[in-house]
Amino acid sequence: MRLDAVSKVYGSGKHAVRALDGVTAGFARGTFTAVMGPSGSGKSTLLNCAAGLDRPTSGRVLLGDTELSGRSETELTQLRRDRIGFVFQAYNLLGALSVADNVTLPLRLAGKPVDRGRLAGVLAAVGLAEHHDRRPGSLSGGQQQRVAVARALITGPDLVCADEPTGALDSRSGRQVLDLLRRIVDELGQTVLMVTHDPVAAAWADTVVFLADGRLAGELHRPSAERIA
Ligand code: ADP
Ligand code: ADP
Repeated sequence: MRLDAVSKVYGSGKHAVRALDGVTAGFARGTFTAVMGPSGSGKSTLLNCAAGLDRPTSGRVLLGDTELSGRSETELTQLRRDRIGFVFQAYNLLGALSVADNVTLPLRLAGKPVDRGRLAGVLAAVGLAEHHDRRPGSLSGGQQQRVAVARALITGPDLVCADEPTGALDSRSGRQVLDLLRRIVDELGQTVLMVTHDPVAAAWADTVVFLADGRLAGELHRPSAERIA
């Protein structure tokens, strides 16, 4: 995943807000990157542009060899379904559906067959094999976020985008979710891009990218031995 001189301007004229200002950054396959910065610095905008949820005003977004910028809405939706998984602060699970149905929803939306073995494998990976038939509302916050991680993984995406995934969790559940994200990078070779304002959460990442006023303000690379996980 690569951002090449990405700028994003919301609004126009004197009300224009330059949320991203010429950001160039690469997120290598099999790495875990945390995006940090003060409120309003452009973190969510960066994540949304990387994930094809939002379009840059200028610059290019590349997922492997595929350019996301300049695609039609239909093409972007297809790309997101096929290649990008999402985890949100508020879990965004459907309360009326079982854990299994929540996890398999991206496959069904894409009209793809549900492989029961894969479902079982993904649920086992997030430690929820026993909770297949439960409703999200009957699970703890940490368990619900792990359902969301399973849902993000079910399609075998190239990129997993997480916006404040631990923001609603107590520190113990937050750690479990971060351990899980770390594991999907180390064991499955996933690429994870995570927005957080929590320096403790950022310590699970290989690289921390700092934003200030829509610009890259610094980058920290962590030797693996120093990682907390
Ligand atoms: P962060 O995630 O770091 O808090 P955001 O990416 O949400 O920052 O926002 C960056 C800037 O862009 C802020 O000034 C914010 O107010 C503005 N912004 C974000 N989304 C919109 C929008 N949809 N319309 C107008 N301004 C926006
Ligand atoms: P099976 O026939 O493999 O026992 P079912 O078709 O009865 O499974 O569905 C059970 C689960 O399989 C559902 O909870 C859902 O997660 C998943 N599933 C598989 N294919 C579909 C589909 N086309 N629509 C909805 N759910 C599906």
